[in-house]
Amino acid sequence: MRRGEDHAEQTAITGIREIYSELENRPIERSCTLRTECCRFRLTGKTPHLTKGEALVAARAFKATGRKNLPALPEGDCPFLHPKTSRCLIYDSRPFGCRTHFCASAGGPYARRDVADLIRRLEAIGHALGGRDARPLEAAVSEYL
Ligand code: SF4
Repeated sequence: MRRGEDHAEQTAITGIREIYSELENRPIERSCTLRTECCRFRLTGKTPHLTKGEALVAARAFKATGRKNLPALPEGDCPFLHPKTSRCLIYDSRPFGCRTHFCASAGGPYARRDVADLIRRLEAIGHALGGRDARPLEAAVSEYL
């Protein structure tokens, strides 16, 4: 059983990474300059929601940093934001929402029509893992830590 789960997770991770890569290659002008304003959830009033596959990818990346537990969030910042360097700990594995929806200084949210096919694929991978709707970042990732 565990072996089957591992295979399903690996397939999901590969699929999610392909989607992130395809997004990078779309001719949509955006420029993340690592200002991290969008990582201050209390400030923006928005929290990224992750499908189950995205949560798996983010959790694996977080664990690869040697960390096990998400820190408390007294300032309302993303738990993946390094408290001293203010850099994203999982930047290459950051969720779709961090790439498309949250940052005014990077160019504002993508038009849904430009990425709707990728969202459908993210959802399909999440469903294949047994997930339903996308969930807020912390809750979604905690499941895999
Ligand atoms: S995952 Fe990274 S890019 Fe996304 S909100 Fe958190 S710190 Fe920012």
